[in-house]
Amino acid sequence: IPSPRWSFGSIAESRTSETVREDLTMNNPLFDMTGKVAVITGSTKGIGRSIAEEMARCGAKVVISSRKAEACEQVAAEFKAQGFEAMAVPCHVGKKADLQNLVDKTNEAWGSIDVLVCNAATNPVYGPTEEMTDDAWDKIMDTNVKGTFWLTNMVLPQMAEKGEGAVVLLSSIAGLRGNTVIGTYGVSKAAEAALARNLAVEWGPKGIRINSIAPGLIKTDFAKALWDDPVRAKQAEDKTPLRRIGDPVDIAGLAVFLSTKASAYITGQVIVADGGETIC
Ligand code: NAP
Repeated sequence: IPSPRWSFGSIAESRTSETVREDLTMNNPLFDMTGKVAVITGSTKGIGRSIAEEMARCGAKVVISSRKAEACEQVAAEFKAQGFEAMAVPCHVGKKADLQNLVDKTNEAWGSIDVLVCNAATNPVYGPTEEMTDDAWDKIMDTNVKGTFWLTNMVLPQMAEKGEGAVVLLSSIAGLRGNTVIGTYGVSKAAEAALARNLAVEWGPKGIRINSIAPGLIKTDFAKALWDDPVRAKQAEDKTPLRRIGDPVDIAGLAVFLSTKASAYITGQVIVADGGETIC
């Protein structure tokens, strides 16, 4: 697997994640997550996995979670083999009992939750809003919005008791613009950014920061239809000033930033990471 590309200013240099970790944690305590417990939903692949890996690299104990127990165990085992602290707790974010179990199992094992990343989401339909069925609408809203509402309500009170915590919600640039084919998904992602803003107002006085990330097109299975075909991939690259589709680690770096002291005065924001697509 080629190393992800990190661009700094006008100089695009190829840097491995290991190099980045050395820069961030060994030289700069602003990005240190040593001993912090981080729960990341949907972390067996794609953006969530990369967030979990980069947080673990910065010293966090990470909870690997998705609907599939076997996949969770496998990723946790791979992380432990790299020397990271990780555990697996399967959880469907659309099921309240699963979310409570995720919180309870984490607390039982590690005593607290310092960082929460609500990353798992679904988009089962592709087409105009007019053709959206009630069931599909409910599935998108229940998984992407209600699950986040449930999980944040379960975790924020215990963060408030400690007087600190960081929460990151995965929004999307689809939540910032209209779209003819993934409109309802975009509505759910706009709701997540709004939820982050509102929770930030409610919990800021308790020392908790809540932000959202709006990625552009990122190379994961979730968005495969948009980058797998070379013609569509070229179109996507051409409309992005950085002239490339994003890698999961491009989002993971931002999630680390938003979960550490480096972003201590940032809350309620939606941070766009899209290679510049939305500035055109
Ligand atoms: P991905 O590669 O498909 O990974 C999704 C992860 O979530 C997997 O671990 C999956 O594992 C898990 N998952 C799916 N449904 C779940 C559910 N109901 N409950 C619990 N876990 C679930 O997706 P991704 O591209 O990394 O997307 C992650 C986030 O980024 C999403 O919120 C998405 O909206 C956002 N985003 C992505 C892009 C992009 O271009 N990729 C752009 C903007 C925003 P299981 O299948 O085993 O459950």
